[in-house]
Amino acid sequence: MPVYEFHCDDCNRDFELLMRISLFDPNKVTCEYCGSKKVCQIISHINVITSKKS
Ligand SMILES: [Zn+2]
Repeated sequence: MPVYEFHCDDCNRDFELLMRISLFDPNKVTCEYCGSKKVCQIISHINVITSKKS
């Protein structure tokens, strides 16, 4: 199950939510600390280019 990271603009905290893609609705996400709806999703490092040069 994917983990979504969010950032709350009101209390300035980050939190994670586990949810299924089919149920994912960013408009219904509220901060788990203060209940604010002013949250934005944090895009995780999906395509991290790791080029190790030795
Ligand atoms: Zn908050």
